[in-house]
Amino acid sequence: MTDLQSKDYRISPWTAEFQDPAVEREYCRTVERDNARFLRVALFIWAALLLAFAPLDWFTLGDSEAFYWVSAARFVNAIAMIWLAGMLLRRPHWVSWGWPVTIAAILGYLLFFAYIRLIPDSGPLGLAVLMLLLFSLYVFIPNRVPLNNIIAGTGILGVLLTSISAGLDLLSLIYLAVLLVWPAGVGYFTALRIGIGNRRAYLLLLKSQRTNKELEQEIRRRQQLEKELKWQAQTDPLTGLFNRRQYELLFNQEMASARRNKTPLTLGLIDLDHFKAINDRYGHDLGDHVLCQVADILQQPLRESDILGRFGGEEFIIILPRTGVDQARVVAERMRIALSETIISHQGQTLVVSATFALAELAPEDKDINSVIRRADEALYEGKGSGRNCVVCVRAA
Ligand code: GH3
Ligand code: MG
Ligand code: MG
Repeated sequence: MTDLQSKDYRISPWTAEFQDPAVEREYCRTVERDNARFLRVALFIWAALLLAFAPLDWFTLGDSEAFYWVSAARFVNAIAMIWLAGMLLRRPHWVSWGWPVTIAAILGYLLFFAYIRLIPDSGPLGLAVLMLLLFSLYVFIPNRVPLNNIIAGTGILGVLLTSISAGLDLLSLIYLAVLLVWPAGVGYFTALRIGIGNRRAYLLLLKSQRTNKELEQEIRRRQQLEKELKWQAQTDPLTGLFNRRQYELLFNQEMASARRNKTPLTLGLIDLDHFKAINDRYGHDLGDHVLCQVADILQQPLRESDILGRFGGEEFIIILPRTGVDQARVVAERMRIALSETIISHQGQTLVVSATFALAELAPEDKDINSVIRRADEALYEGKGSGRNCVVCVRAA
């Protein structure tokens, strides 16, 4: 956005180029390959035309020294154009630079002047061809308009000087000048229109590219926001585990799936032992740190499909799909041992925590998560009563 506003995108009405050279360079780079291809075709046609008219020289000049001079000039000219076309393959920037084709075209005029001198009565034909060339120069040769002006100007001046040296009277000279300036002028204004039109289209393209970029950024920003909102809606901010809303939702899905597929489903409550004492002794900050560490430790032995959530305070919940209570006990034991064997350190303090685990399997009469939680909670109470740091199971009836 700032880019388009901070740069000067005005187009000169006299050269059909952007007034800011940096913008013009940028534009040229985008059209360079296309223009180089177009110029190559024009150069080949130019060379072909030069060679195609050689037999005409034979008819007008016959087997004379002049014929060989003109033929040599034609040949050298044609070779130069083909060479230039070849060079454009490797150096497409020559087309934006413009001077190679300008010099080639000016050299090409030498042939004309030679013609006019060698064939005194070639006047009308030469003039007609030159008028055509001047017009096509602007329309068919993708060159910078100011350089095309130089080519056309050199040609017109050359013809007038040659005519003066041949002794043409003033009136005829004025007539000749008008005849040549006219096609060059039409060509010039046509080239301006094409050049300005192309640059305006380029500006529209830039604008739409900028709009697309802004839209893409906006979409990415919104996607990110959506992700964050979704994360916030599903997660407990302290531990990063699923919150109540989310694990209840997942439990309902797993319950439906377990009933459909007749597979077991076990729910577990995990309550840290004497956590209040930890808070009281080390402070609430360390308590929070312990909760995060415990969340990490509990996550370790779980499968991708297992669900771990924060039940509240220092209590966690696990939901193990396709797992009976016996298998769940193995998992819970692994968690319990991992927990009691991990030394948690924070700001110079080290401690070990334990937890009591209560597991309850989904029963046919359970309508929702609450009745399973109720059974697990009773078992938890039992576990706390029997000394903590243990796993207690409730079997489905
Ligand atoms: P028990 O072995 O019987 O479970 O003992 P306990 O101390 O863990 O039991 P109780 O439920 O009485 O205490 C839980 C404590 O957990 C109370 C509160 O200070 C602490 N607690 C709850 N939520 C948080 C929390 O988000 N951060 C911290 N640091 N402490 C919390
Ligand atoms: Mg508790
Ligand atoms: Mg506790």
